[in-house]
Amino acid sequence: MQLDPGDIALCIAGEVAGDAPAPMTVPIAQTSLFAYADFQSLVDGLAAEHRQHVYTRGQNPTVEVLERKLAALERGEACKCFGSGMGAISAVLLGLLEAGDHVLFVNHTYGPTLQLAMQLRRFGIAHDLLLDLEPASVRHALRPNTRLLWLETPGTMLFRVADIAAITAVARDRGVTTCVDNSWATPLLQKPLALGADVVVHSVSKYLAGHSDVMAGAVITSAALLRQIFYRAYMLNGAVLAPHDAWLVLRGMRTLAARLRQQEADARSVAEFVRAHAAVRGVFYPGFADNQDVVTRQLRGLTGVFSFALARDDFATVRRVIDALRVFRIGVSWGGVESLVISPNRGEATSVLDAQGIPRGLIRLSIGLEGADVLVADLEHALAQAL
Ligand SMILES: *Cc1c(COP(=O)(O)O)cnc(C)c1O
Repeated sequence: MQLDPGDIALCIAGEVAGDAPAPMTVPIAQTSLFAYADFQSLVDGLAAEHRQHVYTRGQNPTVEVLERKLAALERGEACKCFGSGMGAISAVLLGLLEAGDHVLFVNHTYGPTLQLAMQLRRFGIAHDLLLDLEPASVRHALRPNTRLLWLETPGTMLFRVADIAAITAVARDRGVTTCVDNSWATPLLQKPLALGADVVVHSVSKYLAGHSDVMAGAVITSAALLRQIFYRAYMLNGAVLAPHDAWLVLRGMRTLAARLRQQEADARSVAEFVRAHAAVRGVFYPGFADNQDVVTRQLRGLTGVFSFALARDDFATVRRVIDALRVFRIGVSWGGVESLVISPNRGEATSVLDAQGIPRGLIRLSIGLEGADVLVADLEHALAQAL
């Protein structure tokens, strides 16, 4: 993992300027509104809520510290934080799209993002999901009314890495805005805006916060697009990040670089162990992907979330293996300090999995900080249940 020293410093920095002695950490502006000295000043503030402190559903000083950090890390002009990743994703779709538009989702995409796209059909917004990552196939899948290309890379569940520069170039050629969900890689490892994307979204609840104790999301883009998203969606949807939660994210980010380094090393050890196991048919880990040229050009390192497919792929075997794990906790989400396990196979109809080429025996791991040896021993015991 080759991290940018300036990025590490940005993650660690507290942000209180002025004369020493100053607090080491950012003060929490636990307030819903800001009082003005006279009415005319409030009237002026209301005319520019995207840059004035009027109401915390607009701007809040603690949240702004996080927004400045994320904008700097992504090399973007502006950032807005949200009360969840889905809050951020909703705001991008509702802020940028109109009835009659089409969205092209490229690569395996976070389930609720696609569910939201299904809901947007009620408002006359169509979409397609494209799993073929070749730029020529992307060009072919764009329609005359495609307004937005949505790219998740590495993608959900199978962690396939798409070439951001090549795919955003195709979209740009056709005047299509691109948005990259960068939650898996974090801005420390992948910078989609520098590769040609127009918008980046994050589930900040995952690695950035990093301790499974807060929900947050972020949008990073140009000042002009952010302003549109702010007034058309952010202020009106109300998925606002609470100042105290922003503070928790800021604290979590101070150890982001250290966490990622350790989790990369441990995830690789665990992935290698799993790959060699007789009960396992395949491992879906960007470090083992065929397109290593793209992986190494685009990512400064890898995080600790990957999956593998059991050779015996019936639900009973999947459940037995998961239930035999003692260190990995069973739960949704990922990116915290505790290791987690889940499967997209819920024992019901597997038609959605089958349609997306996701093996029925898929098990997803999020590697925490317990140490590779402990995790390998846990998996050794559990995988014996699938032989
Ligand atoms: C979790 C997740 C989201 C949604 O974020 P929340 O904070 O849970 O709302 C979006 N994209 C990806 C890739 C995710 O894993």
